[in-house]
Amino acid sequence: MRHFDLHADTLSKCLQNRKSLIQNDFAISVQRGLIFDQWVQVFAAFVPDELHGSKGYHRFLSEAGQLQKAFEESDQIVPYDKDNIRPGVCNAMLSVEGGSAMGGKLERIDEMYKMGVRMFSLCWNGETDLAGGTATEVGLTALGKEAVKELEAHKIIIDVSHLNNYSFWDLCEVAERPFIASHSNCFELCPHRRNLDDVQLQEIIRRKGLIGINFYPVFINGESDASFQELRRHIRHIIALGGEDCIAVGSDFDGAAMPSRIPSIDRIPDWHENLLKHFDPEIVDKITFKNAQRFMQENL
Ligand SMILES: [Zn+2]
Repeated sequence: MRHFDLHADTLSKCLQNRKSLIQNDFAISVQRGLIFDQWVQVFAAFVPDELHGSKGYHRFLSEAGQLQKAFEESDQIVPYDKDNIRPGVCNAMLSVEGGSAMGGKLERIDEMYKMGVRMFSLCWNGETDLAGGTATEVGLTALGKEAVKELEAHKIIIDVSHLNNYSFWDLCEVAERPFIASHSNCFELCPHRRNLDDVQLQEIIRRKGLIGINFYPVFINGESDASFQELRRHIRHIIALGGEDCIAVGSDFDGAAMPSRIPSIDRIPDWHENLLKHFDPEIVDKITFKNAQRFMQENL
């Protein structure tokens, strides 16, 4: 069984609670995830929109430091290498959630790349000096447009999950490489502002990007719990739009309340089992691993 997850907030949980990424009682711990033949986990360094200047960059360093510490602490977690996925361990990739991490300085993008950042979102739900999130009506700023160019020059994947419609479509005008929505679902099925409408989904599919299915029930059905069947509807919707090769997983573990069927990573096998009852094994492998892995091989 293979598992590739584009988004989890476990680094923030570790930082706040002074716990280790290797062993903890959160939705993801490295130890609890050692059940897959291949496991790739993207860990987000979350930086609140309101942390301006060097405060944002320092928060990024603290969050990224949690991952660095885990690499030093255990050989059960290794940096993700797209050409060499190590079996039976956590292959970890670092992402940034919130463009305040850049602290307004474009040269920080190079520094973040050197520290392992391979995915980057320009803002969270609020407003940064780069773009506007879903709680605002701000588009991409001039600095945001420059940041997009700099990120693309470094082959850092741009993540649109928290962008509002204005920033999303502004980005489409400047982006030259495929981008992803690491943890968003379908607005058509669940009209939450964090979900993507069909035109946005089709644009990501047309650009050969990725859409990471989010397990947060509020984005699945608008309620506090959701069933496997309701989760499958989002997958079927994206497939119906022609996105069979663009669906991936963006759990949002440790960033949002999870459905009772998938409270933590060790229950992912139950979900796979359920998917196999309703989809061909080849499609299940695409959703749970292959699409994301192929995308990284093509774009990193
Ligand atoms: Zn998020």
